This record gives sequence, structure tokens and C-alpha cells, in this order.
Amino acid sequence: IAKKSGVNYLFHTQSMTATTADRLALELRLREAFDKDEFTLYYQPKVNIASGKMVGAEALIRWNDPHIGLIQPDTFIPILEEIGLINEVGRWVIKQAIKDYLSWREAGLNAVRIAVNVSSLQLRNRNFADDIEQAIASDPRVAAGLEIEVTESVIMGDVEQSVEILQAIRDLGIPITIDDFGTGFSSLSYLSRLPLDILKIDGAFVREMHTEKGGKMVSTIILVAHALKLKVVAECVETEEQLLQLRKLDCDQMQGYLFSKPVPADVFEKQFLSLS
Ligand code: C2E
Ligand code: CA
Ligand code: CA
Ligand code: CA
Repeated sequence: IAKKSGVNYLFHTQSMTATTADRLALELRLREAFDKDEFTLYYQPKVNIASGKMVGAEALIRWNDPHIGLIQPDTFIPILEEIGLINEVGRWVIKQAIKDYLSWREAGLNAVRIAVNVSSLQLRNRNFADDIEQAIASDPRVAAGLEIEVTESVIMGDVEQSVEILQAIRDLGIPITIDDFGTGFSSLSYLSRLPLDILKIDGAFVREMHTEKGGKMVSTIILVAHALKLKVVAECVETEEQLLQLRKLDCDQMQGYLFSKPVPADVFEKQFLSLS
């Protein structure tokens, strides 16, 4: 019964009709899923626009439910955050990304830096920077294999503390990306104060880029980012036109279905990694 209502709940996640019982069932199911190792990482390449070469990848979590199949993170990440399981799952994500990266290195492949998404509760956790420091201490190659993506809203929750933690991570040689840029309310003064390396333009701007205003928005964001010495990535690039426009605007990197959808680790390895 728990499983069945969990399933029901999943298909009505955004609706207000989910009952408390459904909700409870889903929570239990998520805890069980974590214990049973049902989460998996997909990888999506990040490509240098000038060279056309892959320069990194983003790890994106999926829940592989044996009965439902693959479930997208927008459905369950908010619930993991609410029930306090996001720290454990987030730690697993970083561990798994490091594991995959090191196994590619072991195999002599040209492994690229893996960016992991970090939610606000994770960033607020005092142990977060320590966890990463420990991972690097156990294998120094980790520093070249990891990158952190945080959204504007995550940082804005507590700017002072975010700056401190992000700086500590950056000091370890891990680049920091500000994700979904333009969707939050951070001001330019914050942008210049934050310890950042890369700015990722939100997909909503890329989608509107063909309009006059949309094009101006993207070109302005790129100019500001470059003035602050940040590299710029455009996400959700789906068309050749968008790519051409981004190249003209001097955008550094792109990510999106035009190049590849996120794929499972073994597919990523076969399709995108070669012997170095
Ligand atoms: P995000 O970090 O902004 O990730 C980009 C999302 O856009 C991904 O959705 C990706 O699959 C999708 N995408 C990539 N290229 C295209 C494209 O060309 N067109 C379109 N329409 N979409 C594209 P996904 O994988 O469903 O992830 C959704 C969100 O879930 C992520 O947004 C991120 O905020 C969160 N998330 C994913 N994995 C993790 C994780 O391990 N930890 C945490 N805390 N959050 C995660
Ligand atoms: Ca991201
Ligand atoms: Ca994003
Ligand atoms: Ca997003």
C-alpha cells in the first residue's frame, strides 16, 4: 500500500490534492530508496564553444525506482530537503561523482572535471567543506576532478556564511559555479563579492535569446561576467542558432541537448571519454 500511494503521489507532486498519507508514504519510500542504492548519477557534457571540445560535465541525480523507472530530480529533491535526507544524499552524490572520476582516471581516460549540484541545506552544513577536504586528502587527484554548482537563492539564504564556506572550498582548488544565474535576486554588488569562478546563464534566458530583448540580456550578462573575470556557461542550448549567437557573444561554454542529453555513467564513458 505504501508503495502504491507513493507512486500516486509522485504523479501528482505539484497538485494540492496529495494527502498526508501519500506524503508519508513517499517519504518512507525515499528513505528506503536511499538505503537500497536506487539513486544514480547521469552526466551531461560541458563544451568549450570556441574549440567544440568537452571541458567538463555536470552530474545530475536520477532515482531509478524498480517499478516506476527513472524519476527526475525536480520531483524528489525538494522532498529530500524537507525530510532532512538531502545531506546524506548530497554526500552520496559527491562520493559517487569522485568515484566515477577516479575510475576514469584509473582506466587512463581523459576524465574531465565533474560539477555537482549543492542544495542550500548542504551548504549550511558545517561539515560540508570538511567532507570535501577529506576526499582530497585521501586522493589529491580529486581536486582536479570536482566543481561545485550553487544557485543564487542558495547563496542569498545566508550570504556571509556562504562566502565563508565557498571560499574554503575554492581554496582547496575546487571551482565554484553560480547556477541558474538571473533567476534570483542577487545584486551586482553581491556578484562581485562572492568567491566564484563560473557563471551559468539560466536556460530561460537562452530560450529567449532570439528576441531583441532576450539577446541583449544574454550579451549583458556575458559582459558583466567577463568584467568580473568569470567564465560563462550557457545551459539548455538546444539549437544551432543559439550556439552561433552565443559564439558571437563570446560565451565560453555551453551545455544542452544540442550536444548531448544527460546520460548514464557508462554511456558517458563510452561516448565522450577516450584514452588520454
Ligand atoms: P539544474 O542544475 O539547473 O540542471 C539543469 C537541468 O536542465 C537538468 O535537469 C538537465 O537535465 C536539464 N537540461 C540540460 N540540457 C537541457 C536542454 O537542452 N533543454 C532542456 N529543456 N533541459 C536541459 P534535471 O537533470 O532534471 O535536474 C533538475 C534540477 O534538479 C537541477 O537543475 C538541479 O537544480 C537539481 N539537481 C539535479 N541533480 C542534483 C543533485 O545531485 N543535487 C541537488 N541538490 N540538486 C540536483
Ligand atoms: Ca546545475
Ligand atoms: Ca541551471
Ligand atoms: Ca534549474
